[in-house]
Parts: sequence; structure tokens; C-alpha cells
Amino acid sequence: MKDDSLRLFFALRCPPRLAEAITTWRDDLHLPGRPVATANLHLTLVFLGQQPLTQLPTLLSLAASVQVPVFDLHLDHLGRFNNGLLYLAPSRPPEALQGLAQGLRDALQEAGIRLDDRPFRAHLSLLRRCPRLPDDATPSFDWPVSHFGLFASEQSAHGSHYRQLQHWPLRPNEAP
Ligand code: ATP
Ligand code: MG
Repeated sequence: MKDDSLRLFFALRCPPRLAEAITTWRDDLHLPGRPVATANLHLTLVFLGQQPLTQLPTLLSLAASVQVPVFDLHLDHLGRFNNGLLYLAPSRPPEALQGLAQGLRDALQEAGIRLDDRPFRAHLSLLRRCPRLPDDATPSFDWPVSHFGLFASEQSAHGSHYRQLQHWPLRPNEAP
């Protein structure tokens, strides 16, 4: 890895107890494939790819300017992409999730940072190289989302590791 750049992405890191519950549920499906480590469970908001370290101050300040209220994510859909990636997703993504991903994209583009134009597709990767979906699976996991982070994806002997560089709180709901 180059030491003057990092492989970066903005994401929601799955809280540890929820991540544990999700991977236990996944393991009980007994599907073949390469499981994602519990500590790595996350939902990518925007993938930045390799970025020079000199870009970090800009990234940190633009992320701080994104204002989105806290929201609940109900993960109730198990899907599989054509590349064999098994994932969990919300069947009805909350508006605030879309707003957060789009708000980051807009701020990045305004700062002149180039992004690919693939549409945002919220998903939590569970298992790679999975040959099929299970016959019946009815996931139901609730994730109260209160902050988002900027992560560096790093390779180790044990596979990918995501190092959180900074995190930002979402706007608390006002009392009724
Ligand atoms: P590995 O590549 O080691 O199997 P990984 O895919 O989780 O693990 P990265 O490739 O660093 O690790 O990706 C970090 C996050 O960014 C993941 O959520 C991944 O799905 C997402 N990502 C990676 N490449 C892209 C891309 N080209 N476009 C959109 N998202 C991407
Ligand atoms: Mg990858």
C-alpha cells in the first residue's frame, strides 16, 4: 500500500451487539461462502477509493457540514448480487439514509472530488462467493443510526480491516 494515500470510504459501522446477532443469524443459515468478519459489518455510504493524505482535511470538514437527522434502519431483506455477495438491506430505505449518502456525494463533488456515478444501493455485506439464496429467510434487525464515519480500508494477514479515522453524530430528533 502506498504510504501517501489511503483507500477511503464513508460508512455506517454496525454496532457490535447488532453485528454479533447478525453474523450468528447468518452462520445459522449454513450457506457456503467466505463470511465477512463480525467487526467488519458496515454499510457503505460513499466509496472514495485511493485518496492522497493531503485530501483528508477537506474530507473531514465537508463531512462535518452534512446535516441529517438520526434514523432507524430496519434490515428485513436478504439478497444476493450476481457476483455472489449475500447481503442484508432495508426493503424500504429511510429518506434520511438516502439524504446522508446524497449529502456526502454532493459535498464531495462540490469539493472537486471525482466519484463514480453508480446509484447508491444500501447493503450490508454478509458472505462472499455465496452460490445461492436460502429457501426461506426472514431477517428482521433494527439499527438505530446515530452517527457515520470515514474509514480507511487496510489489508492485513487476516484480510480487510476498516480503520475509523473520524466519526460525526447525526442531528438528534427534537423532543415533541
Ligand atoms: P475486499 O475487497 O478485501 O474483499 P472489501 O470489498 O470490503 O473487502 P474494500 O474493497 O476496501 O474492502 O471496500 C470497502 C467498502 O467500499 C466495501 O463496502 C465495498 O463494498 C465498497 N466498495 C469497494 N469498491 C467499490 C466501488 N468501486 N464502488 C462502490 N463501492 C465500493
Ligand atoms: Mg472490495
